[in-house]
Amino acid sequence: MSGTQCIGHNKCKDYSGLSAVKDSVNDPQFRARVYLVGAGPGDPGLLTVKGARLLALADVVVYDYLANVRLLSHAKPEVEKIYVGKKAAQHAMTQAEINELLIKLARDGKRVVRLKGGDPYVFGRGGEEGEALFDAGIAFETVPGITAAIAAPCYAGIPVTHRDFNSSFTLITGHEKEEQYKDPDAKARDAGAGSSDLEWSAIAKLPCVAFYMGAKALPRITQKLIEHGLDPATPAATIQWGTMPSQKSCDGTLADIAEKVIHAGISSPAITIIGKVVALRKTLNWFESRPLFGQTIIVTRTRQQASELSVQLEDLGANVIEAPTIELRAPASWKDFDNLFLPRPDGPAQGERGPEARLPETRASQTFDWIIFTSANGVGFTRQRLRELNLDVRVFGNAKIAAMGEATRRAIEDQLSLTADLTPESFVAEALADALEKKNEVKGRRFLLLRADIARPMLRDRLEAAGAGLILDIPVYETHPVSVLPDQVLDLLRARQIHWITFTSSSTAKNFVSLLASETSLLQDVKRASIGPVTSHTLREMRLIPTVEATHYNIAGLVEAILKFHA
Ligand code: SAH
Repeated sequence: MSGTQCIGHNKCKDYSGLSAVKDSVNDPQFRARVYLVGAGPGDPGLLTVKGARLLALADVVVYDYLANVRLLSHAKPEVEKIYVGKKAAQHAMTQAEINELLIKLARDGKRVVRLKGGDPYVFGRGGEEGEALFDAGIAFETVPGITAAIAAPCYAGIPVTHRDFNSSFTLITGHEKEEQYKDPDAKARDAGAGSSDLEWSAIAKLPCVAFYMGAKALPRITQKLIEHGLDPATPAATIQWGTMPSQKSCDGTLADIAEKVIHAGISSPAITIIGKVVALRKTLNWFESRPLFGQTIIVTRTRQQASELSVQLEDLGANVIEAPTIELRAPASWKDFDNLFLPRPDGPAQGERGPEARLPETRASQTFDWIIFTSANGVGFTRQRLRELNLDVRVFGNAKIAAMGEATRRAIEDQLSLTADLTPESFVAEALADALEKKNEVKGRRFLLLRADIARPMLRDRLEAAGAGLILDIPVYETHPVSVLPDQVLDLLRARQIHWITFTSSSTAKNFVSLLASETSLLQDVKRASIGPVTSHTLREMRLIPTVEATHYNIAGLVEAILKFHA
């Protein structure tokens, strides 16, 4: 009996096979070094769990045009990212160069994820990469992905099979011929193999086919199918950038789809599906019927801000383009903050244990009745500084905590593990001052405000006017305008392809407009959504009348205002 057959066999004393397997698992030589991972069709949620896990472990990610760059956020921050192109004619690297790169990285001892759009083995040349790795003696594994011909029709309201219409579904590449002109590798590979000779008479008999191809090949394909007997009235649909917020689709018949694609301005990357199932699009088009589908929205924000607004708009179907206008940085000096929170030289150090240890007595814990956070960013920077000083929230002593707005309250809970004692619903200073006054918590009270360097004096003024005993205003971060807008933002504005722009603060509004400089007039054609009266006032000062203004001055209110406009 050979060793390997004995694995898990209780009666057999020969465990040599088991140890051989164990050794192979531990021996780095046997561990896969390269993972060919299917990135899915575009929607970052359509990556597999296994793919995400491997990305998180990767030292290097080698990715191309069709793999959504957002997937790179699964990887470690220090991961090496190598873009190898593959936008039809503009190959950044030939296939041979990509193969060599994978081999070299693996030989350098790196753990490599080769991220490929859709499924690596469906018209993705993953097979060729696997062969090259095998020939080089490098262990690899492959993780399937959702291929475009399944996912794009799904997001365009088309099930690729249905009991009433078809019991087979065929995937075909319409690229072969064109590719030969553009990619010398393909030409060499194809020579004499005849791999691009599609059997049109056979294909014309199939009940449902999907073609992976650019729109350019479509007239030739539809013509061939009609010539070989497929009914010109057969329903057909073409989907560009399927599953992405920028998805575009159109449908028609075999006879007119090529023309309709041109009219709809659809180009590569696109899938065309031909078959009776296309007719189901009328009832199953869940993705394109979401309320903000087709709306391209610029979200102005700070570079660090969690893109909660972007996520909410995308969930409603919008195509969101983010434009960071402000960068947040730690204050130039933490002197005031540190003086306030560092334990007094005569008191015990924080964290001191033992029967005699008392709570750390700091200036802050003794001095203030209320500590006010006006933004989630302020909470984040405060936490960061406390950590740097080796302190924690005990330095706040018995002071009560107030949060301006729900997002700030959540940040206090998540990042500081504290429950805010007061959170007005509205994200404005007036609401916070009102709420404190209503509680009779201003007169004679001592306040510490931890906030941005450019915060409006409104809160301070109100508290002072209502008889606060002490107000200390300490900036915990500084705001700096970024120097340029992303190219994509300018390109889309110039091409008149932006429908909405959102403004969540006066400073982002001002900075965005100054970044546009002489091109500010481009905003006249764009609908403008403002988070509240203060931001609207700033917009009006710049001769930009808000199209909508939120009733509740927060992210949810802003989204609601845009939705109402489209209702
Ligand atoms: N391995 C990929 C296919 C690579 S071939 C997969 O499994 O999906 C590239 C072609 O795939 C493109 O020219 C286009 O025809 C198609 N394609 C890829 N992603 C697409 C998408 N999101 N929407 C429509 N077509 C797509």
